[in-house]
Amino acid sequence: MQFENTLAFAQKLDTEDPLRTYREEFHFPKVNGKSVIYFTGNSLGLQPKRTQKYVDEVMTDWAEMAVEGHFHSDKPWWDYHERLAAPLAKVMGAKTEEVSVMNTLTVNLHLLMVSFYRPTKKRFKILCEEKAFPSDQYMLQSQVRFHGFDPKSAIVEVTKREGEHFWRTEDVLAKIDALGDELALVLIGGVNYYNGQVFDMEKITSAGKSVGAFVGWDLAHGAGNVALKLHDWNVDFAAWCSYKYMNSGPGNASGIYINEKYLDKKDIPRFEGWWGTKKESRFLMKPQFEPMPNADAWQVSNAPILSVAPYLASLEMFEEVGMKSLIEKRKKIVAYLEFILHEIDKQTDGSFEIITPKDRGCQLSVFLHGQGKSLFDYLMKNGVITDWREPNVIRLAPAPFYCSFEDMYRFGQILKNGISSL
Ligand SMILES: *Cc1c(COP(=O)(O)O)cnc(C)c1O
Repeated sequence: MQFENTLAFAQKLDTEDPLRTYREEFHFPKVNGKSVIYFTGNSLGLQPKRTQKYVDEVMTDWAEMAVEGHFHSDKPWWDYHERLAAPLAKVMGAKTEEVSVMNTLTVNLHLLMVSFYRPTKKRFKILCEEKAFPSDQYMLQSQVRFHGFDPKSAIVEVTKREGEHFWRTEDVLAKIDALGDELALVLIGGVNYYNGQVFDMEKITSAGKSVGAFVGWDLAHGAGNVALKLHDWNVDFAAWCSYKYMNSGPGNASGIYINEKYLDKKDIPRFEGWWGTKKESRFLMKPQFEPMPNADAWQVSNAPILSVAPYLASLEMFEEVGMKSLIEKRKKIVAYLEFILHEIDKQTDGSFEIITPKDRGCQLSVFLHGQGKSLFDYLMKNGVITDWREPNVIRLAPAPFYCSFEDMYRFGQILKNGISSL
C-alpha cells in the first residue's frame, strides 16, 4: 500500500480499520486536556473500561458474601483462574491444559527453573541473549549460584555483531551447537524489550532440543503482540506478564505454559502448594500432593482474585477480536509509523534511525542522533507518552487495540516540530 503523510490519509485508514471501535473501550490519560498518543503499551497497557466491572464484581461479592464467595459467587473464587486458560491458550498457541495463570513473571520463571534447570557437572550452562531484561539476568544468576555454579562460566550470552543492532539467528544456532551437551537450558526473551526484535522461536527451540537442552521463552513482550505456536514449536515452558500488551493492570497476574509432555510426569521436580492439588480433593486437606492433570499443578497459593479478574476482562477482549485481526492491524499501523518516521527523518536531515529489525512486533525502537533526552521531554510535554532507554533510544509501540492511524500522523507532526524547535 502506498502511504501518505497527511491527516486525511490517516483518517481514511482509521475508517477502514475493523478494530476502530475498540479505541473507545479504553481509558486514555490526558495531557493539556487531550487524550495522549500512547506508545507505552509495551510497558503498561491502557485500562479497558470493562475491567472496572470485573473488579467491582469481586469487591461486591466479597462485601456481601465474604468467605462464601469462594464457592457461591457467580464466578466462584476457588477455581476462578481456570476461566482464563482457554482464551489465553489461544493467544499463546497452546493447548488449554498447558496454560495457567498465577503469581508474577519473575516469580514464575524461578518456579519453572525448579522444573527445567537441573544442572549436572557436565550439563549446566544456560544460553540467553546479551543484555537480557535485568530481572531475567538476576533470576538466572541467582539460580546458577543456588546450584553451586559460577554465573561467569554457566551463563553464555549470544551477542550482536559489531555495528549491528540485532541478533542473528545463525549466531544463536551456532552457539547452541558449540555448547552441545554442556547446554542445560536456552532461555531468551522471545521479543526483545530493547530493540523490539522477534527471535525465530521455532528454529531456536528445535536447535536447543536437538542438543538435549530444555528450551523456555520469556514472553513478556510477546504475549498479545506476535503470533505464537508454543505447542507446535515444541517449546518446553514459557512465562509472561499480563500488564504489557495484555492490558491487565500494574503488576497483575502472570501466565505460564508447560508442554503437555510434562503434565503427567510423576517425577518432575516442582515447588508445590495446595492450589496445585486435584480440585476434587483439595479441601480434604490430605498430606499427599496429587497434582492437577494440567499446568495448574504448578500453582502454589490460592489465586489473587483481584489481580486475576482484570486479566479475565482483558482476555474477553482478546477472545472477541482474535490474534489474527490484532496482528493484521499491528502490521499495518507499525508499517505506517515506520513510513511517517522515514518522512520526518528526510525532512529533518537524518536526526534518528530505527534500530528494530524486520522481524518485529509492535515496537519500533528509535535511536536519536541529535537532541536525545530533550526531544523525549518535548514529546512527553506534548502528549506523546513514550519511554527513554539509555543511551539514546525511545521506544514506540502503537498497540493495535487502541492506537489509531491518526495518532501516528499527529505524532509525526509533533516529532517534526520538536526536532526543528530544539
Ligand atoms: C517486563 C519484563 C519483566 C518484568 O518482570 P516482573 O516479574 O513482572 O516484574 C521481566 N522480563 C522481561 C523480559 C520483561 O520484559
